[in-house]
Amino acid sequence: MRLGEVRCKSILGHSGISGMDYAVNPYLGCGHACTYCYARFMRRMGHPGEPWGSFVDAKVNAVERLREEAARKPLGKVLLSSVTDAYQPIEKKYQLTRECLVVLLDHGFSVDILTKNDLVLRDLDVIERFDDVEVGLTITSLDDSVRRAFEPGASTIQARLDALKRFSDEGIRTYAFLGPMLPYLSDEHLEDLLNVLADRVGRLIVDRLNIKCGNLPDIRGTLAAHYPDLAPMFEAALASDSDYYKGLRIRVSEMCRDRLIPVDLIL
Ligand code: SF4
Repeated sequence: MRLGEVRCKSILGHSGISGMDYAVNPYLGCGHACTYCYARFMRRMGHPGEPWGSFVDAKVNAVERLREEAARKPLGKVLLSSVTDAYQPIEKKYQLTRECLVVLLDHGFSVDILTKNDLVLRDLDVIERFDDVEVGLTITSLDDSVRRAFEPGASTIQARLDALKRFSDEGIRTYAFLGPMLPYLSDEHLEDLLNVLADRVGRLIVDRLNIKCGNLPDIRGTLAAHYPDLAPMFEAALASDSDYYKGLRIRVSEMCRDRLIPVDLIL
């Protein structure tokens, strides 16, 4: 992992994501190194051609920039984060996300945190002081071997489930982002996963796997290394009109209805 430091011109950026007004990305790159990651296009910012997951730059003036921008921009909901993970391992050292949270709290912004790292629990003391906050953990499978193959740098699945439980027990709104749903892997223990999630999240978002931003070679590499027999079926399921995701949509919808879990399906 190559760690660097950069200075940013702006940090409280407009977000095109539904329901979000802004996104704050305190880092460039991501040490979680998910092989399907859609944010790999960020390599164009100083890291062309470098393997995704092999570099992270800390935006060392992020907090200073945020203080200035939060004071003059209209209030709204801020996503942490959209093209990086705000709680990836380097955050332990820099604490940029924690300090950004404090600034957003002081100025009255709402916050939505989505991460694959239980480091987010460190900031419970700040998060619980927001009037409007929701914490989401991404979970793509109940099977940690899938996590090791596709999300090698992220927290274990159990650690993410435990984090959701802790936030929920503390009265903080929570959700699980089940995405991307990896064909024939993410749905293998789906009933069990939903049984676990039922008492610790207020809602689910379920998304399909999209081939974009040049992620196909890394996905193929992961399949070849870990699931060579599955590869042909996996790739066939990704076709835009595939029966796989149509069927999955129906199954997830029924499972969530049975467990009274509100769900947004993007399958
Ligand atoms: S955690 Fe998110 S931003 Fe980081 S590599 Fe994985 S998908 Fe990309």
